[in-house]
Amino acid sequence: MSEASRITVIGSVAFDTIETPSGRADDELGGAAAHFAVAASFFAPVSLIAPIGDDFPRASRQYLESRGIDCSGLEQRPGRTFRWHGRYHEDMNKRDTVHLDLGVFAGFTPRLDAAARHSPYVFLGTIDPTLQRDVLAQLDGPHLVGLDTMTHWIEETRTPLEALLGRIDLLVINDEEVRLLARETNVVRAARRILALGAKRVLIKRGEYGAILFSADSVFAVPAFPLEQVFDPTGAGDTFAGGLMGHLAATGDADDANLRRAIVYGTVLASFVVEDFGGRRMRTLTRDDVEQRYRQFVALTAF
Ligand code: AMP
Repeated sequence: MSEASRITVIGSVAFDTIETPSGRADDELGGAAAHFAVAASFFAPVSLIAPIGDDFPRASRQYLESRGIDCSGLEQRPGRTFRWHGRYHEDMNKRDTVHLDLGVFAGFTPRLDAAARHSPYVFLGTIDPTLQRDVLAQLDGPHLVGLDTMTHWIEETRTPLEALLGRIDLLVINDEEVRLLARETNVVRAARRILALGAKRVLIKRGEYGAILFSADSVFAVPAFPLEQVFDPTGAGDTFAGGLMGHLAATGDADDANLRRAIVYGTVLASFVVEDFGGRRMRTLTRDDVEQRYRQFVALTAF
């Protein structure tokens, strides 16, 4: 895999406690950036930039490295690794955060080494927009920059977040967040408003209902891959973004047709991660499994 396709992702690495109607799992390796990195590593070389505590087990690092992920940007600091505890409702599109322990994530100031600074593909995971801006300032002419955010940052730090929109290529956001960011309840009008604020493309994640891509002159919609059982949706959005960016980086082509294929790869990767707790399913997933489900998805949506 070549440096021309390197993806750098900045965000959270965490231990998650997850409760779903199917059961409970404790201390699963997670965090938005970790889910993204694992998914993207199926396609391209990945550098992961995130803080970890001195409690971060060697085995977790070894697992990430076994996926070819460059972990030199995992900044180990005294204290605890970020911990998140979430509980899903019977309707798994809804979840509550039971507990959040930021640990070393609280004082995170991302610093990129030379390889990461020259990375052509960059994904700014959900962190304080002022830090996302600082990362952008460290980059040396990236080819494509994606950005994620969440309700907390939209509510607390709207001004710096809006200022970033004109500087990125792809905003990846869920439907609740896009409505909040655009102050508009209709998703189509909300997307148009975000484009007017400067984002080149807006990709809206709609959980089990799929995803919609908006750009100035086109709209593309895909369903989620229909599954008989969704075991745990944690990390689906980040895995979706990782698969999508992975395909874009591996092919080096961000035109509209290839972006559509990338969205389908993202959808396929996300459909696997929800089959087990946290990122467990990704440990056994093969590239052949991905390609097989990609073909099933093409058949599913052909008419
Ligand atoms: P998703 O299900 O795609 O929203 O991603 C869930 C992942 O995001 C989990 O692995 C959590 O560890 C991580 N996460 C939860 N809350 C936060 C937060 N405030 N900041 C960054 N990452 C978070």
